[in-house]
Amino acid sequence: MSTIAGNIAQVEARIRAAAEAVQRDVTSIHLLAVSKTKPASALREAYAAGIRDFGENYLQEARAKQAQLTDLPLSWHFIGPIQSNKTREIAEHFAWVHSVDRLKIAQRLSEQRPADLPPLNICIQVNVSGEASKSGCTPEDLPALAAAIQALPRLTLRGLMAIPEPTEVRAEQDAAFAKVRSLQDSLNMGLDTLSMGMSHDLESAIAQGATWVRIGTALFGARDYGQA
Ligand SMILES: *Cc1c(COP(=O)(O)O)cnc(C)c1O
Repeated sequence: MSTIAGNIAQVEARIRAAAEAVQRDVTSIHLLAVSKTKPASALREAYAAGIRDFGENYLQEARAKQAQLTDLPLSWHFIGPIQSNKTREIAEHFAWVHSVDRLKIAQRLSEQRPADLPPLNICIQVNVSGEASKSGCTPEDLPALAAAIQALPRLTLRGLMAIPEPTEVRAEQDAAFAKVRSLQDSLNMGLDTLSMGMSHDLESAIAQGATWVRIGTALFGARDYGQA
């Protein structure tokens, strides 16, 4: 078994154990492999071990990998900060965007989503860590943003995404993810997706209702930004 295949088996075992611990159906939890800085060969290995969904943060890097992997039926998720001049390529080449935090970006994605593709799946990134985080809409702005995005024709609003301030303290992880869950509940829009949980905190995220966990390091090893 390759290292990546072994890592995938370990992460899948962590997901199963976390789901069992809170009596959740494991099939409601999806694994997004976060492949930023990793070469196309690593994604190919992950594909061979059963992964179909890949998350990328940087558009040019993602497009280069997509060009090398056209032979595989992959589903691409954009999870990084979005500049308005990048929306067209994102709308054309991804199935999901997890990191929408303002209306202008959502409007552009909707306008630019090609007619021959299904609506683009959207999560609103919400900031539950206050000043510690620059990305994400505030909890106060969330209801109006969610209503406006839901009205856009070429997008399907699926749910919320969050990247809480990193902490190894389980109670603090739980509190942050529970806040995301409660913000989603108070929207009362029937949204089915909570994108939360990374390598170090997926157990807490699953306990609080995550439906996508976004895992990089635990699958592909540490990232070397010096080489990226
Ligand atoms: C890099 C990244 C991840 C993966 O983080 P790991 O700690 O490597 O699992 C998840 N979500 C987002 C938005 C990221 O940028």
